[in-house]
Amino acid sequence: MFALLAISGSQGWSLTKNTALVVLVLLWLATAYWTFKDARRRIADPWLIGVATLVGLVPPFLGPVIYMFFRPPEYLQDARERELEIKAMEERIAQLDQRCPVCRARVEPTYLVCPVCTTRLKQACVSCGQPLESLWQVCPHCATPVTPALPLLEDLTTRERERAPRTKAGD
Ligand SMILES: [Zn+2]
Ligand SMILES: [Zn+2]
Repeated sequence: MFALLAISGSQGWSLTKNTALVVLVLLWLATAYWTFKDARRRIADPWLIGVATLVGLVPPFLGPVIYMFFRPPEYLQDARERELEIKAMEERIAQLDQRCPVCRARVEPTYLVCPVCTTRLKQACVSCGQPLESLWQVCPHCATPVTPALPLLEDLTTRERERAPRTKAGD
């Protein structure tokens, strides 16, 4: 290129001009491509992505600036993550708001029996008396293995007998 410049001044000038033009076109296409890439991360609708890319192309260089004024402020992935977080939060709140399956009265996670309708909600640990979740195989408080559901029923009836000895005696 320098050799060519040395041979002929006018020829060298036109070459420089062409090079500058090629660089300019490449820059123009690069800014349009950036607009397309950015639009794809922010816009879900393929038609709108097409429109944004067109704006990025025409007017050259000014288009991407115009696009930046109107583009959605948030990436799609961020919006999706936020939605998931909200969903998880709602689930956590729903877990906190536990209700009795029979009378729908609000119950605390530590309740063994519904205080309103006396429905048995949870099994108590035989060793420490802490409430146990239905899927637990071992008490997390004292490491005592959880006895199966059948003895629970027996335990419940004996407890009921203990609690109401007078009615049983009356029979
Ligand atoms: Zn109840
Ligand atoms: Zn226990």
